[in-house]
Amino acid sequence: MRTNPNGGSVGRELLFAYIMRRIDHTPDLATFVLKTEPRDAFSWLPGQYCTIGIDDGKGGIVDPRPYSIVSCPEDGVIELFVELVPPPDGNLTPKLWALKEYDHVRLLPKAKGKLLFEPAFRNHVMVATVTGIAPFLAMLWRHFREQTLADHRFLILHGARYQDELTSRYRNELSDLATLLPDQFCYVPAITKPDEERNRGFLGAVGRLPSLLEGAIASRGFVAEETIVYLCGNPDMIVAAKTIAERLGCVTREEQFWKPAKEALR
Ligand SMILES: Cc1cc2nc3c(=O)[nH]c(=O)nc-3n(C[C@H](O)[C@H](O)[C@H](O)COP(=O)(O)OP(=O)(O)OC[C@H]3O[C@@H](n4cnc5c(N)ncnc54)[C@H](O)[C@@H]3O)c2cc1C
Repeated sequence: MRTNPNGGSVGRELLFAYIMRRIDHTPDLATFVLKTEPRDAFSWLPGQYCTIGIDDGKGGIVDPRPYSIVSCPEDGVIELFVELVPPPDGNLTPKLWALKEYDHVRLLPKAKGKLLFEPAFRNHVMVATVTGIAPFLAMLWRHFREQTLADHRFLILHGARYQDELTSRYRNELSDLATLLPDQFCYVPAITKPDEERNRGFLGAVGRLPSLLEGAIASRGFVAEETIVYLCGNPDMIVAAKTIAERLGCVTREEQFWKPAKEALR
């Protein structure tokens, strides 16, 4: 891809994706359901991410950023779960927030990412902060639709400061799955600010994900040699949870959504 003098990137291979549906969960968390033209122009594996940006009106893309995909290719749409990073720090997300249904974005033609389901392990522990749940949802939908290996067992830890950041859209789906398949699937929603009014009535776990991880793995009776721990979202959570998972002897995989503060300064 080349760069144009106006700051955007130019590439004939860029796709158009229309916003079919936008769901605002909180003022700074939204789901964008995109549709490409043609429908099958973009393909991906559950767990991978796409790169979207704003159309510069000259065939290029402005502020391209990667987003993990919530949906599976068979859904026919690209569903993204996005957090607003307000100005002055955020670049693409404030522009995305100004878009409405039927507006379009530009999409790089290839999905990327190596955070993929690893079927060789029996136990799959997925640890996510807020929007970090995205790649795990795609992996789960694919797995439970196909029921390829009924022997696989899942434990999901999904953390946020506030319960509404776990979003009813995803929380309800995961809770329903846990009720339906209690032996195969366990869902632990967790918040870190239990005393705040916004969290009134919350019935899940309280605490940071790294401090909940060891107990959650033990409660499911997962043996380390058969267990993989996938980590996604906030880099500080990933560093801390990875240390614990590795101390327990588990294999880990990760996708950091941004650079930890110290690294960003280097
Ligand atoms: C592989 C990958 C997958 C990603 N998937 C998602 C996803 O599914 N959903 C999603 O919302 N984001 C995701 N991100 C982050 C996303 O690409 C953008 O960085 C983010 O949306 C902010 O974009 P921006 O242009 O507004 O700000 P940027 O210019 O990208 O970043 C501005 C500053 O904010 C920091 N930052 C970025 N994201 C956050 C955040 N959530 N909270 C606090 N600080 C942040 C950056 O490190 C930087 O310092 C992913 C990132 C990667 C690398």
